[in-house]
Amino acid sequence: MAVVHSDPVRAYGHWIAGAFVESSNGALLDSFDPSTGRPWTRIARGGQAEVEVAVAAAAAAFPAWSALSPRERGKRLIVMADAFEAASPALAAAESRDNGKLMREVAPLVSYLPEYFRYFAELADKVPGEVVSTDKTGMFAYTTREPFGVCALITPWNSPLYLLSTKLPAALAAGNTVVVKPSEHASVSTLELVQVLEASGALPAGVVNVVTGLGPEVGAHLVSHPRVAKIAFTGGLATARAVITGTAQNLAPVSLELGGKSPQLIFEDADLPNAVVGVIAGVFAASGQSCVAGSRVFVQASIYDRFIAELRERVSQITVGHPTDPSSDIGPLAIADQLTRVAGLVSSAVRSGGTVVYGGQRYVHPDNPDGWYFEPTIVTGLDMTAPLMREEVFGPVVAVTPFEDEDEAVRLANDTDFGLAAGLWTNDVRRAHRLVPKLAAGLVWVNTYRVAGPAVPFGGRGLSGYGVEGGTAGLTEFTQSKSVWINTSSDPMADPFKMR
Ligand code: NDP
Repeated sequence: MAVVHSDPVRAYGHWIAGAFVESSNGALLDSFDPSTGRPWTRIARGGQAEVEVAVAAAAAAFPAWSALSPRERGKRLIVMADAFEAASPALAAAESRDNGKLMREVAPLVSYLPEYFRYFAELADKVPGEVVSTDKTGMFAYTTREPFGVCALITPWNSPLYLLSTKLPAALAAGNTVVVKPSEHASVSTLELVQVLEASGALPAGVVNVVTGLGPEVGAHLVSHPRVAKIAFTGGLATARAVITGTAQNLAPVSLELGGKSPQLIFEDADLPNAVVGVIAGVFAASGQSCVAGSRVFVQASIYDRFIAELRERVSQITVGHPTDPSSDIGPLAIADQLTRVAGLVSSAVRSGGTVVYGGQRYVHPDNPDGWYFEPTIVTGLDMTAPLMREEVFGPVVAVTPFEDEDEAVRLANDTDFGLAAGLWTNDVRRAHRLVPKLAAGLVWVNTYRVAGPAVPFGGRGLSGYGVEGGTAGLTEFTQSKSVWINTSSDPMADPFKMR
């Protein structure tokens, strides 16, 4: 297969065994710039053939990578982290162009991501095993944890480098090799990162491979491939179900980081200006295209009117603008379909009796009228049956509802099928500790929101998925247990066919 790069209209191939390769049928897909609504580059459209080649490359690289001492893998991850850091401005620019995320947001995020590599580098030689006391005399038993082999890492379009960085260094530290399937809507930053990691000299060819293309054409073959032994997936619920169905073939264990409908609870004793900023950061950052978006806000009735007035005032100061403009607070949505979906959910909220107190429309950018922008939007007056209160929006829309007391706040917060995150705003430490155990979420932030780091596990419950990324548990996800019995006795083996 040949290298695909063909400037001036640059096109990316799949990254397999250390080189760009084109699809066997030469097929390409446009990748769009959300700020203009026009294609800016092309990526290879893979299928079963490319999945076969990539999995074979990862399988071929596995014996040597897994045979390195864990400490050596850790050292190599540090080298990769340094190379990632040096390249982070260019990687951020590629991601911003591809998914429309503000440079103001994506540049600091991407420059932080090498910390995930450094964290897992330090854990590489600390994978725990256990000596087990048993009820058998003359036996020594222990457990050890081993890599799976070839892992499939599947990421969505909203934050490709972040969601790769929560998976890839853990998989590599544990000794696995991988095939990455990024979203067809935002594959470029992943393809650029893998080149950077290999150019560092620390990552041998074939240990990390990337196959681009459509989910049902690439992802479906990958998750059911007989040589894929573990899947780490971030994306939506419908796709997660398809992934699980696919693993009926290979029985590969899956970890699922899915969406949410996360609540933020604001009590009358909270620091209101902080809570307003926390709500804005929680739902309007990344134009609302965040799995943890705090899209349902519940406010104690005694401060409800004041909160709405302050929120509205603050939101009216938000600037919607081009991803590279430093004065922009909210950029475009990443894909055209999202614009239709977000507008549809706001219309349905109005039909459900809701009131749009701010925004609610597509935003027409004066320089880029075809860009996929949507106004920051506040809706009130909805009950818990409205689609806007139940479905993930993945856009800059927040619904605000009053509550009377703690019991009602918890009941409203937990009235969801999801269970990813929750925010709690109160200055009463007893209340905070009282409520944290009652919130049905894998992650609770108290007097803050959207904080994350490599050392703290991240994962949801219910329809938000299972398994975690980050922390020592995030490393364990990429290992499988082995139990070992050793006979230490010099006695002859008891013959099972001779009765005593
Ligand atoms: P999707 O579920 O549509 O896609 C996720 C990934 O799966 C993409 O790479 C997609 O490829 C791929 N895919 C699609 N079909 C299949 C298939 N049959 N088999 C295997 N892979 C497949 O999600 P989105 O990209 O739309 O991302 C948004 C979702 O991700 C939201 O629900 C959001 O909440 C969730 N998310 C969760 C996070 C978390 O950590 N909990 C973080 C960020 C987002 P393609 O795009 O090419 O179709």
